[in-house]
Amino acid sequence: MNLGNWLRRTAQLSPNRPALFLGEEEIADYRCFDAGAAHVAGWLRSQGISPGDRVGIFMKNCPDYLIAFYGIWYAGAVAVPINAKLHGREAAFILENSGTGLCFTSPGLAEALEEAGAPGLRVDISGADFAAALDHDPVADPAPRDPDDLAWLFYTSGTTGRPKGVQITHRMLMAVSLCYQTDVDQATAADAILYAAPMSHGAGLYNMVHVLLGARHVCPASGGFDPAEIFALARQHRNIQMFAAPTMVHRMTAAAKAAGESGEGLRTIVYGGGPMYLADITEAVEHFGPIFVQIYGQGECPMGITALPRDLVADRDHPRWRERLLSVGRAQSPVQVRIGDANGNPVPPGAHGEIMVKGDIVMPGYWNNPEANAKTLVNGWLMTGDMGFMDADGFVTMQDRSKDMIITGGTNVYPREVEEVLLTHPAVSEASVVGRPHPDWGEEVVAFVVGAAPEAELDALCNDNIARFKRPKAYIFALELPKNNYGKVLKTELRKMLEEDT
Ligand code: ATP
Repeated sequence: MNLGNWLRRTAQLSPNRPALFLGEEEIADYRCFDAGAAHVAGWLRSQGISPGDRVGIFMKNCPDYLIAFYGIWYAGAVAVPINAKLHGREAAFILENSGTGLCFTSPGLAEALEEAGAPGLRVDISGADFAAALDHDPVADPAPRDPDDLAWLFYTSGTTGRPKGVQITHRMLMAVSLCYQTDVDQATAADAILYAAPMSHGAGLYNMVHVLLGARHVCPASGGFDPAEIFALARQHRNIQMFAAPTMVHRMTAAAKAAGESGEGLRTIVYGGGPMYLADITEAVEHFGPIFVQIYGQGECPMGITALPRDLVADRDHPRWRERLLSVGRAQSPVQVRIGDANGNPVPPGAHGEIMVKGDIVMPGYWNNPEANAKTLVNGWLMTGDMGFMDADGFVTMQDRSKDMIITGGTNVYPREVEEVLLTHPAVSEASVVGRPHPDWGEEVVAFVVGAAPEAELDALCNDNIARFKRPKAYIFALELPKNNYGKVLKTELRKMLEEDT
């Protein structure tokens, strides 16, 4: 039940099938991919890595990333992928927290770890150590693993505090892969997965199903996200599937429109990981066509809470299209989703509460964090910390994270609803709404806005669209909003700014 066997299987069945690409260039077929992983695993063993040990990967997306990743699995070890955009100190925290003794890294990032005094041994992917690893005697087969053994330690993005290590097992990843085929898309051997977002997160979590099918894996040569490069790669490789955060979709649409680019070769864009505003997805579908699928997940249930399939995203003739598009879709097949009251008891359709999830994609717990486990896993249910409601057909609408919900005069305001209205003003490019402590109301609604929109016009927009108590009592105009490395707005920072201001 080591998922590394999926690579071994494909390499045996289709050794000559092209596997790894850097930009346009083929780097390895499946035989070579499998051999690389087996050699790396042999070397890891020689370095004293045993099954269950953690091995870090702190580098930009590249074909060697996947070789190192499967090498870790072939050795029976646990991969700890770390977003290459993190600061050295943040990456050092993850290595320390996870007890990771060895970390694959790349030039620039290795120095960042060094400066931060990160523990353990570093292996520069472009250096002599990695070359020695690829030369080392290979393991014969991927190490046997139990389905419930750890495969991946996934660190949450830390939007609400310090990142937490989520334990992801081989079984969970098998379920994530199955869901890709049943709830998200139907990948085939003719497809290519393009890693435009960090492999340490959403983009990487879909690699396994593409390995099992013998599809192609394409890493942009820039190692990052550049819409023009994506369009060129899509034209060349065709049948592209990729994961994109909402901000990436927004940027791709703007770039495509500016360049008169149709997005030829893009087959599926899976978006999620943060709220997608209606205006953005509508514009994206109008431009690229019905290629978008939404997923809602969190590290604790990776990619796997709900999905909204492409036909529902795109079908404007559907009588409930707008409502569907504002939702995050329905529960994915291996999980149950429920809306619970403060005690976790289910509420009737339409009633608001916390989104809870149970099933094969839910984590067994955080790494070394019993306190957080007790709060988050209750009677077998994962308390997502996200608020929402479910309609009679099972569509879930996520309103906001419970931590971001504003309670003013005893009534709940979901910032996202207000943000959606502000974003309809043509001069507003970004909006983020938070609560500020108020002596009479408990909290009052405050909007941070990027864009030169007159306050009176924003107020009039809110007046026309939402209840009076939801209208921002103050507008703060900013040049940009504080965001983390995943492009998520840090509302904790905005609240801190308001506190300091008062
Ligand atoms: P931390 O837990 O450390 O604060 P984080 O929650 O941002 O970090 P992730 O697991 O990366 O870490 O993010 C998951 C959260 O992102 C979800 O709980 C939800 O609030 C939000 N999210 C994910 N997908 C969607 C979606 N499709 N629509 C709206 N929000 C989403």
